[in-house]
Amino acid sequence: MTTFKDLGLQSSLLSAIADLGFESPSEVQYKAIPLLLGEETDLVALAQTGTGKTAAFGFPLLQKIEAGTTTTQGLILSPTRELCLQITNELQLYSKYEKGVNIVAVYGGASITEQAKQIKRGAQIIVATPGRMKDMIQRGIVNISKIEYCVLDEADEMLNMGFYEDIKDILSNTPEDKSTWLFSATMPKEVAQIAKKFMHHPREITVGTKNAGAVTVQHEYYIVGGRDRYPALKRLADANPGIFSVVFCRTKRDTQRIAEKLIEDGYNAGALHGDLSQNQRDLAMNAFRKKQIQLLVATDVAARGIDVDDITHVINYQLPDEIETYTHRSGRTGRAGKSGISMVIVTRSELRKIKAIERKIQQDFLEKKIPTGIEICEIQLYHLASRIRDTEVNPEIDDYLPAIYDVLEGLDRDALIKKMVSVEFSRFYNYYSKTRDLGYQMSSSEEYSGKAIPSEGSVRYFINMGERDGFDWMSLKDFLRETLGLEKEDVFRVDTKDSFSFFNTEANLSPLVLETFKDFKLEGRRIKVEVSKNPVRNGKNRKRDRKRGRRKEGNFSSGKVGTGSRKRKKGKNPGFF
Ligand code: AMP
Repeated sequence: MTTFKDLGLQSSLLSAIADLGFESPSEVQYKAIPLLLGEETDLVALAQTGTGKTAAFGFPLLQKIEAGTTTTQGLILSPTRELCLQITNELQLYSKYEKGVNIVAVYGGASITEQAKQIKRGAQIIVATPGRMKDMIQRGIVNISKIEYCVLDEADEMLNMGFYEDIKDILSNTPEDKSTWLFSATMPKEVAQIAKKFMHHPREITVGTKNAGAVTVQHEYYIVGGRDRYPALKRLADANPGIFSVVFCRTKRDTQRIAEKLIEDGYNAGALHGDLSQNQRDLAMNAFRKKQIQLLVATDVAARGIDVDDITHVINYQLPDEIETYTHRSGRTGRAGKSGISMVIVTRSELRKIKAIERKIQQDFLEKKIPTGIEICEIQLYHLASRIRDTEVNPEIDDYLPAIYDVLEGLDRDALIKKMVSVEFSRFYNYYSKTRDLGYQMSSSEEYSGKAIPSEGSVRYFINMGERDGFDWMSLKDFLRETLGLEKEDVFRVDTKDSFSFFNTEANLSPLVLETFKDFKLEGRRIKVEVSKNPVRNGKNRKRDRKRGRRKEGNFSSGKVGTGSRKRKKGKNPGFF
């Protein structure tokens, strides 16, 4: 395996890399770093966000610049203020052991005088957004006439945002013989034109397939009626306790409206769009980074700066007009070696767009059904049980125990567990058992000729392992395939949750599955696989179950379950987690 040392990096950078805990170079890094260190060349690198591209240009740049002089030698242009700050921050970490290196961020919406002061003190590297950079050049505050390296990061985004003229102007103030390194997730013709116009015989590297979405992302679509978009969104959130997601809408109005509705319905949601002040956007971003917001509803433009690595789901509340935009949206998840899911809520009439995206990203979508209320209840029930198991006992509770024992006297273990779980379960059960299923008749897989998942004749299983055990849907699928000795297609609909998961096989494989996991242990732990009980799908006794649920209804004023931090609002949704 290639190591960072093999790439030719100097020891001070290797020490910083060790401190950061990067174990081995990512694909873009082992392709770009030796090339950029080895020769003075222009470079076009096709790489998604989250692939480690900042380090791919950052390390060579830091090794090549001279710290002994204060002359600006490197200029990095990035589309947004957030990305600009992110790059600056990363480079500062990388240059921890480089003496005398100053990296200054230059972006709109902050004091130009302060930024000018920092540059005056000497900045070997400037990281800038195009608009502010152009402004500074015009005011004569910054001198980039001697730069040797110019990085155009997320070039496609910069052009999307209309920065072509600004970039052209900025580059006209730089020396002809500098090296230009262009990084882009996609290669629309506008980016190819930039490469042609401003670069000399650039070397080209591609990470993954050209124009392809990141392979760590699973793409799913859910067919609903036009009016069911919002309830469908809520169900997708409810079926994924612990979701940490960006929800994309097409307009600022929709973004604001959906965020407000979610908040009103008791979700930890926030809005991010261009009609908000910079201060409001900063507040939303900070809350999102701290995971105080779980569902960040955003427009495409506003979301460009989001640089958060552990987004679990991207939800396309509406599809974008441009396919390129879909690539950018889905690239917000599945970053830094993690896997992610990009979900699209579509109406029937939009299905051809899914096909067009599939062709472009060269990846198939899975057709999925909006979870039924009962499925959501099941997921939340297991989640609740896991949370109870994992809850740390607060020693303060000891003083109250004698009184509690008195109250609960006469209840055996079984009764106690049932009652405890029912306190929360009934709240959402009562809500969901009264709702109809969404998109059920409409989402017939036969009518869409893409890769549909057989739902008839397949069996869904519950397994007591999940993300907490280090699995994501891909690695769990691999584990199941290998353990069961099956082919890739034999295990499907793998949904990992926090401490448990679900998966499907065809019904004829269920004896094998159940037999294999009968007394199965993994690292000493008993692994259980059970056929998932689903009263609706199995068509059994829905009425009876409903009645039972009602009978168990009680006083539900207790604490939060499920996503753990969802705020509850009285009256609206009668019970959530
Ligand atoms: P980027 O594509 O530059 O936005 O990087 C995405 C994230 O991956 C950042 O948080 C980096 O700190 C991290 N990262 C970059 N290179 C590596 C690596 N070789 N190993 C582990 N993490 C990395």
